[in-house]
This record gives sequence, structure tokens and C-alpha cells, in this order.
Amino acid sequence: MDSNQIIAQADGSLMPTYAHFNAAIVSGKGATLTGADGRTYTDFTSGIGVNALGYGDPDWVRAVSDQAARLQHISNLYYAPSTAAFAEKITRRTGFERVFLCNSGAEANECAVKTARKYAYDHRGAGHSTVITLINSFHGRSMVTLTATGQEALHPECFAPYNPGFKYVPAGDVQALEDAVDDTVCAVMLEPIQGEGGVMPMEAEYVRRVRELCDARGLLLIFDEVQTGVGRTGKLYAWEHYGVRPDILTSAKGIGNGLPIGLCLAREAVGAGMTAGMHGSTFGGNPVACAGACVVLDKLDDDLLAEVTRKGNYLREQLSIMKHVQAVRGMGMMLGVELDGPDAKAVAAKCVEKGLLILTAKTLLRLLPPLVITDAEMERGLEILKNVLEEE
Ligand SMILES: *Cc1c(COP(=O)(O)O)cnc(C)c1O
Repeated sequence: MDSNQIIAQADGSLMPTYAHFNAAIVSGKGATLTGADGRTYTDFTSGIGVNALGYGDPDWVRAVSDQAARLQHISNLYYAPSTAAFAEKITRRTGFERVFLCNSGAEANECAVKTARKYAYDHRGAGHSTVITLINSFHGRSMVTLTATGQEALHPECFAPYNPGFKYVPAGDVQALEDAVDDTVCAVMLEPIQGEGGVMPMEAEYVRRVRELCDARGLLLIFDEVQTGVGRTGKLYAWEHYGVRPDILTSAKGIGNGLPIGLCLAREAVGAGMTAGMHGSTFGGNPVACAGACVVLDKLDDDLLAEVTRKGNYLREQLSIMKHVQAVRGMGMMLGVELDGPDAKAVAAKCVEKGLLILTAKTLLRLLPPLVITDAEMERGLEILKNVLEEE
């Protein structure tokens, strides 16, 4: 089928929830994709921060193929070796003692909210269920995580009622947070760098003060690292940049390298409260996804993390001297590009026509390239973006 046939087939049947770009992709290698019409695309998106090891990583392909051939799923009524191995690996690497495995970022955040409420219930009794989140945050599309998301634009009336138990405060404002804390509050949840909100890094001093406030008031601190995690910022998880460890950390996107997996990490005393029957997921801890996730973690060593920092700095330098670029922000290979006039979505659409996949976030261009992108692939992508911006 050619590109137009694929697009017509999809548009004829899928709910119209997505504004697709005009490209149908059939295969990939590294950070380079091939379209159904034979065109080549450089990928600055990783499928929205997912394909950390790019496309066709031989070790990942072997691990998931072997596991699929051997045992694809067994449910959480029984034990599976790759699930056990991944659970041990991720807890050892991160220093959190407990993990719940699920299938997406929204589910990871659902688990974080339940875990925080359970901890408060066990330690303080009923009535401490409110979670404070930040204005401009993004935590997912389920009803609870959508409610947690502090963006009015994502709370249309048609989906009401939203869930009770959430409050929103502006990022960076310690006083506003202090004022919002009352006896009903059990936790504060934030993204170290707001991704969908426009690549907005939290200030180190703010994050430190939030931790202090949580400690002083007996609240749990939850970091949503669904986008910032898995090496994206040059550390395994972005909290390491801040030296501020949360009590609960959620991850998804990059950890599966393209297979659906999410996780909610917690320190021992917090995770231990989620006893048998408290939570569950049919697909959670799927052996195939876990076999792949083990490879992702093994490959994310200090050398690869140093490369993320180097390549991120290079991209930042090259982007900042392009026409119409007002500012570049972010960390590592999670970058947002503020433009001085051109519409980011229109620029992204023109890039696709010329062979570059690039994301937007609010009014910014956003880059989340595969962590393994080569220098030559970066050059090709940057050249396309530079030409598009020069024509604006
Ligand atoms: C993408 C994202 C989510 C939602 O993840 P899904 O896998 O789409 O459910 C939640 N939080 C953050 C910070 C994200 O970037």
C-alpha cells in the first residue's frame, strides 16, 4: 500500500483524536526512518520520547523476539524470569526498593496517586487524599491523571465531572505551595522538566524547597519522570540533577524502547503499603516488554549518558544560531526551541515534507531524538530545520 492508501485507511476507521502529520512510516534503523513512499526521514522525536535506543537495536530486537517466541504473557498470578529480572534491575539502579509495573505513563501516575493516598491513610487515617500538582503540568489522559494535569485547556466541559482531590499551584512559587497545603493534602506531584507544557525546567532551589516543605508537613513528593527519565536529560532520572530524591517516581516512554511499559517506583515504606489486591494490571510486567526494558537499562551506562549530554549540548548550540530562534531550553536531549514569530506546528509540518520529524510543545519546537542518534543524523536533521527556518 502506498502512503495515501494507508492514510485513507486509518482516517476512515480511527476515532479522529489525532492531528496526524502527512507521513506513513514503515521501517527504521538508528534514528533514520523510511516512509511507505520510500522517503527517508531523520527522527528528532523517538515516537515522543520512547525509542531511546532508536530503531532496530540488535540486542533489543533479539531480547524481545526470543521472549515472544518463548513466553509472551503469563499474568501476575505467576512469576516470569524477565519480569523478575527487570524489577530487580530498575530498583537496584534507582535506589528505590519497590516497583509496580504497568503499561503507560498515565497508569504509572494512577498508581502513584493510589500509593500516596494509601500511605497517608495508613499513617494518618482517612481524609488526607488531596494531591497538589503544578499549573501547566501534564500527567496523562485517564480521568484521574487528566484531572491531575494543571491545564484548563485540557479540562473541557464535555468530560466533566473531573475527579475531586486535586489542587493546582504555579511552578516556582514556594509561598503558593505553602498556602495550598492543608490537612487534606497527602502529596505534591511535579515533572522536573514540564514536557508537554513547553519544556520548562524547574529551578533547583524550588525543587529543594518543595522537598523541605514535604518533609516538614509529612507529605510525599512524587516526580513524574515519564518524559524526563531513562537517560533523556543525561542522567538515568532527572532528579539526580537536582540532588532531590522523591518518595515516588513514575517512568514510562523511554524505558520500553517502543513496547508499552510504565512503572511506579517507591521507597520501601511507601511501596510496602500496596498489599495484595490493592492494585493490579493484566498486562503489567509483561515478559516481552520487560525483556526489552532490561536491554535498555543495560545499555544506558555512563558512556551513553555522557554522549546524551555531549549531543544535547551540540544540538543546543546549533539550534541557538538558527534564524528565528529566540531561546533554547531543556536538559540533555530534551530540548524546546522558542521561535520569534513562525508558528511551530507549521514549521514542524514543513520539516516533515523535507524529511525531518520534529515535535512541538505549546508554541515551541521540541526535540526528543533517540539517545543513540549519530552525529551524521543530527547534521542532516539540523540542516533541514535550518533551511525551513530560513524560508520563514
Ligand atoms: C507522556 C506523559 C505522560 C502520559 O504517558 P502515557 O504513556 O501517554 O499515558 C504522563 N506524564 C508525562 C510527564 C508525560 O510526558
